[in-house]
Amino acid sequence: MPEDKAHDHATQAGSSTAPVSDSGISQNSAAQPAWKAVLAWCLARAGALAARSWRFVCDVVRYYWGIRQPLGEYVAGFAPNLMSESTRMREVRLAPYESHRFAELTTDGWTVAIPGRCVVCGERTAVPPVDENREVDEAARAFLVPLGSVGAGALLALIYSRWLFLLSIPLGLIMGYLVRGKVHVLLRVARCGPHAARTNIPQILAWGNTLVLRFGHKLVRKVFLYGETVDSTVPQPDAPLDVSAADERPAERPPETIPLADSPHPDDATIRHSPPSVFGAEDEPESPLVP
Ligand SMILES: [Zn+2]
Repeated sequence: MPEDKAHDHATQAGSSTAPVSDSGISQNSAAQPAWKAVLAWCLARAGALAARSWRFVCDVVRYYWGIRQPLGEYVAGFAPNLMSESTRMREVRLAPYESHRFAELTTDGWTVAIPGRCVVCGERTAVPPVDENREVDEAARAFLVPLGSVGAGALLALIYSRWLFLLSIPLGLIMGYLVRGKVHVLLRVARCGPHAARTNIPQILAWGNTLVLRFGHKLVRKVFLYGETVDSTVPQPDAPLDVSAADERPAERPPETIPLADSPHPDDATIRHSPPSVFGAEDEPESPLVP
């Protein structure tokens, strides 16, 4: 029956179109949140990335701000005019290949032990030494890596674009931050009663493999470098007495004359003019060669 067929067709078409329209609506309604979800996900990721980048930049800035003093000391340490004489007299620089009386470099880092002396004033003290663990920022890398980056940026700026130079400054700081390092130092030092609170002394700096110690007094440096025997071998109270005695001695005693070997008597050494001798024939001395 055509009507039934038509109806069937209609119903089929209706039934066939209805799901299509339903599915189309459902697809549209599903696509809208999915697109939004993707966007929201992207925004969230971008936000998280931005937050992380911002935190990273803050870390870099904070790191360099925190080590500004060691960096300044590093630069001043290699420019002799920037370092005061008093600092120089209190400072020792320990290279890893040297052997030191009171310092040792192991795989854990440096150990510095100065017994019996106040590390601030250098006087002998009975206060037992205490252990202090210090983590010292390594300044050489933090300075040289950005310097190399800026140098390379300047070179590239001459060839390509000056923007590379501007880019090299933050890039150098970021690289310096990424390769940052700390040096572990175990201090075993004593401080006398009045200086017990001066825990910032000795000042410790790490320049690459070199450890720099700045004590409170130049006496500590002397003991550190040459040991305790320096004081005992130099008799300081007696020295002025000897000097004064030596000064008075020539005044008391008459000057001595020292007879030299084979030297003639002063009377013999003077030249006297005597009348020339007249030789007669009989006075002529016999020559040993002529018989
Ligand atoms: Zn002291």
